[in-house]
Amino acid sequence: MTDLLIGGRWTGAIDERTREIRCPADGSLVAVVDEGGGKDAAEAVAAARQAFDQGPWPRTPAGPRGDLLLRVADLVARDKDALARAESLDTGKRLAESRLDVDDAVACFRYYGRLVRTETGRVVDTGTAHAVSRVVHEPVGVCALITPWNCPLPQTSWKVAPALAAGNTFVLKPSELTPSTAIALMRLLVEAGLPDGVANLVLGPGPEAGAPLTDNPDVDMVSFTGGLRTGRRVMAAAAGTVKRTSLELSGKNPNVVFADADFGTAVDHALTAVFRHSGQVCSAGARLMVEDSVHDAFVEAVVHRARGIRLGGPFDEQAQTGPLISAAHRARVEAYVAAGLAEGARLRCGGICPDDPALADGYYFLPTVLDGCHSGMSVLADESFGPVLTVERFASEDEAVRLANDTVYGLAGAVWSGDEERARRVASRLRLGTVWINDYHPCLPQAEWGGFKQSGTGRELGPGGLAEYRETKHIWRNTRPRPRGWFA
Ligand code: NAP
Repeated sequence: MTDLLIGGRWTGAIDERTREIRCPADGSLVAVVDEGGGKDAAEAVAAARQAFDQGPWPRTPAGPRGDLLLRVADLVARDKDALARAESLDTGKRLAESRLDVDDAVACFRYYGRLVRTETGRVVDTGTAHAVSRVVHEPVGVCALITPWNCPLPQTSWKVAPALAAGNTFVLKPSELTPSTAIALMRLLVEAGLPDGVANLVLGPGPEAGAPLTDNPDVDMVSFTGGLRTGRRVMAAAAGTVKRTSLELSGKNPNVVFADADFGTAVDHALTAVFRHSGQVCSAGARLMVEDSVHDAFVEAVVHRARGIRLGGPFDEQAQTGPLISAAHRARVEAYVAAGLAEGARLRCGGICPDDPALADGYYFLPTVLDGCHSGMSVLADESFGPVLTVERFASEDEAVRLANDTVYGLAGAVWSGDEERARRVASRLRLGTVWINDYHPCLPQAEWGGFKQSGTGRELGPGGLAEYRETKHIWRNTRPRPRGWFA
């Protein structure tokens, strides 16, 4: 077995452990992969350190670095079918969605491949004739890139592309549940000609293979995407050596519908916002907020359509959404719903596993709507990361903004209104990293992604995504050195 990439060599785990990867849609065996731990992580960091300190990549000019990323984009596009299939088998996600995720990865590598050529340093006016001052960008160093299981290929690409564009070396640790496209992407980096030791891959459970990356003194930066609780742990571990940290964490995202919104379109998007990939999307619009006068009709329409959503595996072309990632995650979603009901939420649909025997081997959970939710309930405070929509009502614009901001999270959300001025006003008052107006979910490689408040500290995509992986250095050059004579 050779699924770990360390110092340019494909290798097995030191302790020779392996893990079975099973498709969440039916439990079928997808692959058996190496499962590393602390010793493998330490070796990978040492390889990345050596490649950074002594290898050619950090000293390669931006032009050839950009060229390599463009080659990677072409290779990912070439392998689109195989990558999408692998992603769907690991995650249970519909194949059509995985294909979009591959497109997202291609766009990301293209974007940073082009951006890095144009993002130059600057010359600063020194105010004297005998000095030249330059501000230049340099890579941060060795980066630990830790990614979750919900959108593995895009999440990995959003880190790998800017980290490489900036000239860093890295150790990637994907989720233990979904390693296949990480392995495939590393093979494509090698095929594109990346020097040995620049890209390193460690597989294994987070506490064993991920945690040792976050406090290793040879790691300069940790870029982490995952849950809030793990994010806090990562930040604390990184503090010991004051590593740069870029955290992309959980969300509990408000989808705010005013009475003057286009009713049918807003209903349609309210469903996609939360039930796409069974709610396992960090930006899922899991918190529907509807203005009083249309609340009942709107919720009725959402519930009616949610009841009709067809569940199925990745290759079922009739399926509209798929399973949850694991039995443990489904149990967490069930407990989340039970807590909401115990606190007084009203179950409008779902709340249980489907009884269709064809779905019995997968981790399916019916699209669920919980009505009558209000501040103080755990279902509003916590992220379910499942197909569960909570519904609140509001009476005024001020109340909508106050309720929407009444959370520790600040990742994303939407405003629906036919009044452009109002939509803009509300969007600017929402403490969220991304706000959609009369839309939900679109994401662009050239526009930053990241959360406010406890949804994270980092920025991905856009020029800000590249800035995360760069140091900025000021170089002052005296062109006419003379003694100062102060202490003569
Ligand atoms: P998670 O449990 O926090 O895990 C994320 C990654 O961290 C996985 O690779 C995990 O490894 C690893 N990990 C676990 N414990 C660790 C530790 N002590 N030290 C270092 N690494 C550790 O999150 P998840 O369940 O995979 O992902 C779902 C969460 O991610 C949701 O909360 C979602 O909102 C968030 N998310 C956020 C964004 C964003 O852009 N803000 C995007 C996607 C997802 P193992 O899985 O192998 O244990």
